[in-house]
Amino acid sequence: MLDCAIIGGGPAGLTAGLYTTRGGLENVTMFEKGMPGGQITNSSEIENYPGATGEITGMELMNPWPEQCQRFGLIHKMSNVTRVSKSGDVFTIYNEDGSTDQAYSVIIGTGSSPRRVGFKGEDELFGKGVSTCATCDGFFYKGKEVAVIGGGDTALEEALYLAKICSKVYIIHRRDTFRSAPNTIKRIENTDNIELVLDSTPDEVYGDKMGVTGIRVKNKNGEMRDIIVPGVFTFVGNDVNNETLKQDDGSFLCEMNDQGQVIVDITMKTSVPGLFATGDMRISAPKQVISAAGDGAVAALQAISYMDELLN
Ligand code: FAD
Ligand code: NAP
Repeated sequence: MLDCAIIGGGPAGLTAGLYTTRGGLENVTMFEKGMPGGQITNSSEIENYPGATGEITGMELMNPWPEQCQRFGLIHKMSNVTRVSKSGDVFTIYNEDGSTDQAYSVIIGTGSSPRRVGFKGEDELFGKGVSTCATCDGFFYKGKEVAVIGGGDTALEEALYLAKICSKVYIIHRRDTFRSAPNTIKRIENTDNIELVLDSTPDEVYGDKMGVTGIRVKNKNGEMRDIIVPGVFTFVGNDVNNETLKQDDGSFLCEMNDQGQVIVDITMKTSVPGLFATGDMRISAPKQVISAAGDGAVAALQAISYMDELLN
């Protein structure tokens, strides 16, 4: 029986692992389906993690985290968790290989996955000019032109953010109206260095060994246009990785909002006692490494208190 099962080994899960083990929980296992580190390991450069100065990749940032946790006793089990359920005071963790584990508390941090648009070159040039994070990568295009794909609140807000850093932002949207707050649309229209490329879809992003050099878009009349930019930001929605919380009857183990994000309070408690949700998968997540790590620490301290009350 585990004191705590941590599902996901990104910044949130690893920090939860550090704080639970160092805080005195005895049997803590982190279930991670791949190499620990999370989605930031896809980033070629991270500049906004406090203390990480100089040129540092996401992989380099995350490399020491698992070893630091293991020093305090965290076990890493390489497993794709398919489901978490609860009966009485005990959680059951279902592994893809058919085995199960049991735990008194669970901290989940399985992250979210930005949806792919689906154009040619998108996957090949991801992290080499194609990005899903303006806060993370926008600065690399200071004074340069970039393209934004999408027409929702995220795309327009991120375009406004990028317009402050970049010389010009092209917003490529497949319709001629936006799915966004009217005030945001007004701000877009009033921003001189934003050009709207409407009724258009990306056909191909292309580049060389240095990264993206341009994007070819097709409008509704079938006309092609090349936009020469070194950066392409895609914001076409996000999928929260919440499958593990889905129960056999299709309901979720805990309360979620209509976007599939886990509802938590300020201490990362979900609606189910002993279950804590952290990082990109929870409501109102800032979707940053530092905030995911902070969530992991907060949840771990709560899990320790929960175990104290449960077992004493
Ligand atoms: P994740 O990092 O997504 O980790 C979740 C982990 O759970 C993954 O390792 C995954 O394999 C595992 N997992 C998922 N499902 C299961 C399952 N069923 N069973 C077992 N394991 C599972 N943030 C910044 O602060 N600065 C940046 O510069 C920055 N740049 C970025 C660049 C890119 C290209 C991307 C994609 C993101 C960037 N971000 C950046 C955002 C940052 O990476 C995320 O906010 C952060 O990683 C979220 O951490 P997390 O622990 O919640 O989730
Ligand atoms: P979203 O609202 O689902 O918008 C996604 C956008 O991407 C839409 O414009 C959509 O086009 C486009 N799109 C989707 N798939 C595409 C594809 N394959 N090719 C080209 N374009 C594609 O997603 P979001 O902007 O991330 O917002 C998610 C939710 O969070 C929304 O409810 C939003 O209101 C909310 N949010 C709120 C705020 C805020 O309140 N300040 C900020 C950010 C997000 P169509 O329009 O044609 O469908």
